[in-house]
Amino acid sequence: MLKGKTALVTGSTSGIGLGVALCLARQGANIVLNGFGDSEGPKAQVAALGVKVGYHGADMSKPGEIAQMMSYATEQFGGVDVLVNNAGIQHVANVEDFPVEKWDAIIAINLSSAFHTTRLAIPGMRAKNWGRVINIASVHGLVASAQKSAYVAAKHGIVGFTKAAALENAKTGITVNAICPGWVLTSLVQKQIDDRAARENIAVDVAKRELLAEKQPSLQFVTPEQLGELALFLCSPAADNVRGVAWNVDGGWAAQ
Ligand code: NAD
Repeated sequence: MLKGKTALVTGSTSGIGLGVALCLARQGANIVLNGFGDSEGPKAQVAALGVKVGYHGADMSKPGEIAQMMSYATEQFGGVDVLVNNAGIQHVANVEDFPVEKWDAIIAINLSSAFHTTRLAIPGMRAKNWGRVINIASVHGLVASAQKSAYVAAKHGIVGFTKAAALENAKTGITVNAICPGWVLTSLVQKQIDDRAARENIAVDVAKRELLAEKQPSLQFVTPEQLGELALFLCSPAADNVRGVAWNVDGGWAAQ
């Protein structure tokens, strides 16, 4: 389905981003990976699917580096057809205790980076009159939790950004949508589970069950593969008129 197209997934060296990148690659998309940590392992996983793979280590909090990454994609891959804005971080604290530098980093990485990648990707998509922008928001783009003010603000922001960008491109072949996952068992969530286990002096498995029971009625973690399959649907012709939605995949979290 995506043969000959290029997908750039930010924050794709682990977790949801890597899962989505692998799903897109299975459908033939060439992949530009991004993110911190080991890039060789993820690159090898994508390459094993028989597509072209590249990597750029741009820091998503730095607009200049984001511009370099987008130029790299144009020079090496002929542009970006599917842009998945996924890179994200978390910090948990009450507003009055929230470190200012953490607030700034969360807004920069979880929200502003998507503005920069999207503004740089749209001209190329317009030239081809086809494009898909998929923002990995969160159920926290729809509802809030205490102690996550920066994350909730950034995720609500990206849902708003999704709608505005979708409207601007509504008469074109470019769609812009958001996916809003509930709990997915990645390093970002494992840290919250470990913190809870330490805080409450309970086993990690018990902390994991508590975390789910508190918010996610299915009591199951969403998987990166399930999110990748939704991203694939959003890339398909069946989704040509899905525009500006924030689609939660959250085990019933936001239905409560
Ligand atoms: P993760 O920690 O496994 O992956 C985050 C990725 O972002 C990694 O590749 C990391 O290297 C990269 N990254 C972090 N800071 C970066 C920066 N400054 N520049 C470039 N890359 C950077 O976490 P994840 O759970 O896979 O999170 C991916 C996205 O999904 C995030 O936007 C997160 O908010 C969102 N999300 C996660 C969950 C969940 O339950 N795990 C739920 C809803 C939404």
